[in-house]
Amino acid sequence: MKYLYNADIVTPEGILRDSSVLYDGTVISVGETCPEGAEALDGQGLTLWPGLIDIHTHGYGGRDTMDGGNSVAEIAKGLPRYGVTAFLPTTVTGSREAVSAALEGVRSAMGGGEGAAVLGAHLEGPFLSPERLGAHDPRFILPPAADWLDAGVIKLVTVAPELSGAEAFIEVCRERGIQVSIGHTDASYELCEQAVGWGAASFTHTFNAMSPLTHRRPGAVGAALLLDCFAELICDNIHVVPAVQKIAFRLKPDRLILITDSIMAASLPDGSFTLGTVRGTVRNGVARLPDGTLAGSVLTMNTAVMNFMKNTGASAPQAARAACENPAALLGLRKGRIQPGYDADFVLFDREFEARLTVSRGRTVYAKNHPL
Ligand SMILES: [Zn+2]
Repeated sequence: MKYLYNADIVTPEGILRDSSVLYDGTVISVGETCPEGAEALDGQGLTLWPGLIDIHTHGYGGRDTMDGGNSVAEIAKGLPRYGVTAFLPTTVTGSREAVSAALEGVRSAMGGGEGAAVLGAHLEGPFLSPERLGAHDPRFILPPAADWLDAGVIKLVTVAPELSGAEAFIEVCRERGIQVSIGHTDASYELCEQAVGWGAASFTHTFNAMSPLTHRRPGAVGAALLLDCFAELICDNIHVVPAVQKIAFRLKPDRLILITDSIMAASLPDGSFTLGTVRGTVRNGVARLPDGTLAGSVLTMNTAVMNFMKNTGASAPQAARAACENPAALLGLRKGRIQPGYDADFVLFDREFEARLTVSRGRTVYAKNHPL
């Protein structure tokens, strides 16, 4: 049992000044006195956030989910330095064998004790529109096929709802407890609305790789912003510029999900990278294929939160909703809030949004200049 004190705690109701949290694997109490026998940790007057949850990251630190093997386990070890306590390693379009190998890597890392919790996989591709592929390899795209759905590993799947068989596929996903995110799509607003009716619960990297909003055709962007569902947003100021982040926040203050869409080049200096079968180059922190297409980001979650607050005016509790609570809610997890009964996942941020102490499921998984 641990007792972290002398911290401002971000909760949905507001910030609790100079408060404390008692926890083991889950949060036991907030703002109570230290019981006898608990190990005390000084929060040093910093701000304690719920752990950040990234439901869309391909890789980081030179490793790609598509590498399979122990790549996901290594990514899990690295992410807590950015305040991430749980994530969905995300595949890209590839051959069935390549995707299966990646999913095996995810499976072997699930339930592992080190680093951030591996919640399962986000299957991004191959069920994507050829019109809105972004950096995905066109050779491997397919109509939705339920026999790809490995329910033990896949927790979220991106689907273009205009593809044949999408309705039945989304139904199967619902039966198996797999969440569906509309993305890489050229669908109309009306079709997106239907797909939400079929059970889709979110939109993948809103604005990017989807039919845009115009005044007579609201498109998938209009649907993502208006319908009652979650909407991912890449707040790197490149995929979505600050003013558009603000528009999204004004329209959907309670249902955004901050993601990184990061690739193996995140946290590395500029240079070349691979993402599944494609190759590209990072220059000045922007990852592109040779033809100029954006290919994921080098964003980290702590920077995403900082950018989001700065660009939209969101308060810390509002930002925590988008970076912690909503991704957990989408996946049906008791995470994302510092509240009794929820998993003890949190991060102590300093004023520059550098993580100083990261705790996942009660275990310290990262500490920087923090006496433990
Ligand atoms: Zn994508």
